[in-house]
Amino acid sequence: MNFPHLFKHRLSITGFVMLVIALLMILFSFYLVLSKYGRFNDDMAQLRITSIEKKKLLLQKEISKAVDFIKYKKNRTRLRLKNDLRANVELAHKIISSLYQRYHNTHSKNQIINMIKAALQDVRFFDGRGYVFINSMNDTAIFHPIYPESTVNSFLKEMTDVNGTKVADVFKEVIKEQGEGFVNYPYSRNIKNKERSSKLGYIKLFQPLDFYIGVAERISDYENNINQEIFERLSKVRFGKDGYIFIDNYGGVILMHPMKPEIVNKNLMDYEDINGTRVINKLIDAAKTPDGDFVYYTWNRPNEINNEINKVSFAMGIDSLKWMVGGGLYFDDIAEDISQEKSRFQAIMKTEIIKMLLILSTLFTIVFIIIKWWINSTKKSIDQMIDFFVEASEKNVYLDESKIYFQELNILAKNINAMIKSRKDSQEALEKANVMLHEQANRDFLTNLYNRRYFISASSDSLALIKRQNAKLSLLMIDIDDFKNINDTYGHDVGDTVIKSVAQKLLEGSRTSDIVARIGGEEFTILLPDTDAPGAILLAENIKNSLSSHLISAQSFDIPVTISIGIDTYSENKTIDNLISNADKALYVAKNSGKNRFMHFNKLS
Ligand code: GH3
Ligand code: MG
Ligand code: MG
Repeated sequence: MNFPHLFKHRLSITGFVMLVIALLMILFSFYLVLSKYGRFNDDMAQLRITSIEKKKLLLQKEISKAVDFIKYKKNRTRLRLKNDLRANVELAHKIISSLYQRYHNTHSKNQIINMIKAALQDVRFFDGRGYVFINSMNDTAIFHPIYPESTVNSFLKEMTDVNGTKVADVFKEVIKEQGEGFVNYPYSRNIKNKERSSKLGYIKLFQPLDFYIGVAERISDYENNINQEIFERLSKVRFGKDGYIFIDNYGGVILMHPMKPEIVNKNLMDYEDINGTRVINKLIDAAKTPDGDFVYYTWNRPNEINNEINKVSFAMGIDSLKWMVGGGLYFDDIAEDISQEKSRFQAIMKTEIIKMLLILSTLFTIVFIIIKWWINSTKKSIDQMIDFFVEASEKNVYLDESKIYFQELNILAKNINAMIKSRKDSQEALEKANVMLHEQANRDFLTNLYNRRYFISASSDSLALIKRQNAKLSLLMIDIDDFKNINDTYGHDVGDTVIKSVAQKLLEGSRTSDIVARIGGEEFTILLPDTDAPGAILLAENIKNSLSSHLISAQSFDIPVTISIGIDTYSENKTIDNLISNADKALYVAKNSGKNRFMHFNKLS
């Protein structure tokens, strides 16, 4: 059987291990990439949330900043108005004082008052609305740059405040008590007009001429001015992309809208966006919540029409003013930001994955080299083992343990060698036993000479050889003389010993190439290859003499033993049977002619 052939169609160990490692590496890479991608998706979702949250926070901050600004401006309105009023009165007072100081010694009172009138006639402040007026302490107009005296006088005589007190009396009260001070009073141009606005004034006594100087401003006018300042300032605020601030009042009227001036002062409470959301209404509702709230709706981007996109606005209320301050961001801007972040993230992920693959492939190469080396060194040992098994299946060859480096394989080799040794030992024992068995079949059990069966077959083989070589061959037939007597005299056991001793003598007297056999009770033959008749006669004589010249010792007896020998020598066409029967005939003659002698068949007839 050819074992290596079997492995040719199977995967080699190297191939198998590399395949497993490659698969593991690929699986590992997949796992890493997938988990990275999963994390990326989580990050993107997180980014979307945080991005929106961040924008909303920014929005909230911008709006509350605007609200703070408005509140600050508004808080300062009264103070500013008062300062302005007082400052203007003081200025007028100074002008009047200086005229009076300069001219009261040289001019009449009327002349001085006319100078004062001329000086103050064109003085205006509060965007042209404000002016200086002068009244006498007995409720008559001394100077008014706009209205005729009669109008002022009727105002002083008839206008009353909410408590029914005459405004002129309120003025005089302040002058009498403090010499100067603020006055807050209802006002209308036409005394009959019931719709009155509230005016704040500052009045100051000018003692030398016994009149008081005043400056007043309609509070709503002043506040409108402040509002305009606020709107002007907040209109310019921008944040994010396309982020701006708008202001409506709680009634739904647009007070400020930097992108659509055409809707300012319009009531849009019922305006609906493309989804039917009542935008202004919702914004006002959100503004009325304690800290403001977000509102989602659609709106045109600045400078665009008929393209409403999703927008989120934050609305915050100023309850004291009943104002809603709002500002918003467009969702596609947020999406754009996110997609920018996304592509930035993707780029990072791409380089990370490339880096990771590079590391993995380097790792794979290193592992490949190590495994390849390992397998190569293992392969040598394994190949040796395979070769060994192939050889060992036919011959018992030991494995060279010193050439197998790996511990496990080395232990295996040791065990295999032990196995071989026991197999070899048992094979040898078997062979020995077989040889012995074979020998025993050819031997005579008493003398250990060849038996008759072996003698016949061996001598036939010899004869065939002799025939081919044209060589000589002789055969002796030997019989112990009067053996019956020995048996009878000394017993059968002594007889056996005598037989063994005679056999020994026959072996001693013959050559190794001769075949000595016991063919009957006390009968023997010797086949003499390469021996002619005279040679055989010489050998027969020597054997006969060696026996007759010594006694044989057996069981404390010394017994004289002789033998008679018949001889025949091979000549043409004789068979072993011919040689045996011829030698037998010669033996018979030797016996009859007196025993203890030999006779060659050739000497008969
Ligand atoms: P001869 O000189 O004419 O040969 O006389 P002999 O007595 O030797 O001849 P015979 O053939 O009459 O006697 C052979 C005797 O040998 C007969 C037998 O009892 C004895 N014998 C045969 N085989 C054995 C044996 O194995 N052991 C012993 N002790 N005796 C044996
Ligand atoms: Mg006999
Ligand atoms: Mg005999």
